[in-house]
Amino acid sequence: MKGGKLIIFSAPSGSGKTTIVRHLLGIEELNLAFSVSATSRPKRGKEKQGIHYYFLSLSDFKNNIKSDKFLEWEEVYRDNFYGTLKSEVERLWAEGKNVIFDIDVAGGLRIKKKFPDQTLAVFVKPPSIDELKIRLKKRSTESDDKINMRIAKASVELATAPQFDAVIKNYDLDIALKEAEELVAEFINRPTEAN
Ligand code: 5GP
Repeated sequence: MKGGKLIIFSAPSGSGKTTIVRHLLGIEELNLAFSVSATSRPKRGKEKQGIHYYFLSLSDFKNNIKSDKFLEWEEVYRDNFYGTLKSEVERLWAEGKNVIFDIDVAGGLRIKKKFPDQTLAVFVKPPSIDELKIRLKKRSTESDDKINMRIAKASVELATAPQFDAVIKNYDLDIALKEAEELVAEFINRPTEAN
């Protein structure tokens, strides 16, 4: 696999990375396209098949693992698998796009390892675990149990921030958006051997 640039935004759930990724997708000059992940978790709210995720049954997901269809995959929460399909990245590269990912910390670092020069891996840091709790509760798409599961994972994920190329502190959204824009623009305009 070879192609354009890969931009990864990883962060604990509720850090605001999805908002940042959506903002960047709206900036035409960056020529970004979103990598739609596959997941075995059920659809939430207004999510659509093929737009937010490729929703797969647990057995279909596992079959795709067996037949080596994933660039990376993780059991992010118990029985909730998430993964980046090789075919998705190849499809977007074939369109001449740079690919942007909203994926978990382990998956993000795995892609960075596979494509070190082509990848910008950004960690989005929430103001605090307490603030994260408030944001997840406000979103109110999940049960308390699920929220607590996400909070527990967040503490572990925060420790991986130094392994990323850059860390954006999302304390003030406008500042975080500007920082993300500048980082990604600089990386995309930077020549690499692959381009
Ligand atoms: P959610 O259930 O809130 O949509 O996502 C839960 C977590 O899974 C988030 O941290 C999200 O970034 C991560 N995630 C989404 N897609 C992928 C993927 O393809 N691979 C990995 N490793 N994580 C993913």
